[in-house]
Amino acid sequence: MAAQTPVSGCPRHKGMGFVCVCKSCEDELICMDCVTESHNGHKMGKLTDYVADQKREIQQYVDKLSKTDIPKIKEDIREQETSGGGYQKVINDIKRQGKQMKDNIDNAIELLVKMCTELEKLNKSVSEKNKTALTKHLREDLEPKLDRCQQVLTSGTTVDVTTLAREIRNTSFDPPSPRRLQTVEFKPGTISTELLERMLGKVLVDGEDQSYKPIPTPVVLSEFTTSFPYTICRTCLTGDEAWLSYWDDESVYRVDIKGSVKETIKCKVKVSSISVSPTTGRVWFCVQDDRSIREITTGGDVVTRFNVNNTPGSLCITSDDMVVVGMDGGIQLYTTDGRAVSAGAGRPCRQVAVSPSSHGV
Ligand SMILES: [Zn+2]
Ligand SMILES: [Zn+2]
Repeated sequence: MAAQTPVSGCPRHKGMGFVCVCKSCEDELICMDCVTESHNGHKMGKLTDYVADQKREIQQYVDKLSKTDIPKIKEDIREQETSGGGYQKVINDIKRQGKQMKDNIDNAIELLVKMCTELEKLNKSVSEKNKTALTKHLREDLEPKLDRCQQVLTSGTTVDVTTLAREIRNTSFDPPSPRRLQTVEFKPGTISTELLERMLGKVLVDGEDQSYKPIPTPVVLSEFTTSFPYTICRTCLTGDEAWLSYWDDESVYRVDIKGSVKETIKCKVKVSSISVSPTTGRVWFCVQDDRSIREITTGGDVVTRFNVNNTPGSLCITSDDMVVVGMDGGIQLYTTDGRAVSAGAGRPCRQVAVSPSSHGV
């Protein structure tokens, strides 16, 4: 239809102009001859009315185009130019968050350095005072005494000698005791790239986390059946051996990848849960009966390190040498010598979270 060349007159009757529309033939334009020939008896309509209708229809379309369609497209185009998907804003947000983290690190460094500087100052003043007191004791007490002794020895009378000897016997030595100087050391924490990444944040594309990677399907390296029941299995540092324990058993077992028992430690108490220290490779375990936390030394001896206030269900030794104990009533962090520590905000607790009921890590 679009390709058709519009005809100025009736295509069937050369030279005849249109006079009306045929209502019976979908408003076809027809001439005087058509009315009596092919459209004879059909219902006719006024050409002027029909054209007016068509014009009104076109006008409506014009209105729709100019008032709705075109402004909307123009708006869409503008949006493409201005928004750009918000990448610049995202980049700025990432940088701002990173800067905040760096500032916080700088502040933390400054705080520690300041603390050390002040401790050093304090220590310096203590050592200055110590030096003064010791020097005073040397100059005003010890050295004059030495002089007097030597003088009496070389040229003193009998009375001088006996008097001095008696004096020395009766003198109780009371040298000034220097005040102790504090020692300092720095124990660096574990730098966790994972934690830093979590602190920085994530980029969501269409609401989806792009850093999400599906957990790879586990590959079975070895399968074996043990001759004893076990509930806990902890891999050794080397990765080719594991320690096994059972909540109702008094022994823990070191097995190789084929399941052969390489070592059996008789603990003489029921071992509730075990953990292998990532730094020392030694096994720690907790005991419900006496609420103790024990360590198996390299020689195979069992040493109680400390006791906890609640019944311990499970434990985990972290890479920064902390003991996480899952107990009735909660999870508590301890130093290896049994001092309770508060976890503090932002600690990567989920890596070491232990639940007393499931022994899970
Ligand atoms: Zn005609
Ligand atoms: Zn007709």
